[in-house]
Amino acid sequence: MGGKGWFLLKLLMFQGLFTSPPQDPGFDFFYFVLQWPGAYCDTKRACCYPTSGKPAADFGIHGLWPNYKDGSYPSNCDPDNEFDPSEISDLVSTLQTKWPTLSCPSNEGFKFWEHEWEKHGTCSESVMDQHKYFENTLALRDRVNLLQILTGAGIEPNDEFYKLKDIKKAIKEATGFTPVINCNKDPEKNSQLHEIFFCVDTSGTEFIECPIIPRDRCPSHLQFAKF
Ligand code: 5GP
Repeated sequence: MGGKGWFLLKLLMFQGLFTSPPQDPGFDFFYFVLQWPGAYCDTKRACCYPTSGKPAADFGIHGLWPNYKDGSYPSNCDPDNEFDPSEISDLVSTLQTKWPTLSCPSNEGFKFWEHEWEKHGTCSESVMDQHKYFENTLALRDRVNLLQILTGAGIEPNDEFYKLKDIKKAIKEATGFTPVINCNKDPEKNSQLHEIFFCVDTSGTEFIECPIIPRDRCPSHLQFAKF
């Protein structure tokens, strides 16, 4: 090899020392999950409003969950990375409005956020720290005004029954992405619109089409419960 060849080879080797291959985040995509409080409360009966008061009649956040393309998901990935409320003190009032807890007994919400961070958030710690995890999730919530999308399509939380396909169509038309819908049953065995899942890329910031489409856990007609 001539002098020029050696120079190029050395340059490439030198660069190789400093350019690492893209890091595997340890999961394939996120589910961003919103919950309808009317269904949670109607089904659980024993739902409790947070200490800050009755949440708005709007979709709240359930969580941002790292997932694998085969449908499985990692959980509780780092017991050493405990939830630390002091890291999210600037976000608490927004979390109370957009990520309210409905579990009993009434509490401020920290238990729910702690659970979501420790079970799901720690599995994406290669991509974002605690503050970023909550900040990104809140930002995703701001990008889809689900209630407005549904009511704009005549689908309202009035205890009426709607077609699953109409709900999905309205959301797809407004956001560009097909959601996954999850139902639960109230004590009278009515299936109710409970959770809406969107898929998000591994940076936790961009919506994507879901790499896998789980079976709908809803019948063809479902109730949109009042709250
Ligand atoms: P995950 O579905 O994220 O694995 O677990 C949800 C956990 O958070 C449950 O243990 C549940 O009791 C608790 N939790 C607290 N508040 C809420 C809420 O408003 N909605 C839901 N779905 N779970 C809540």
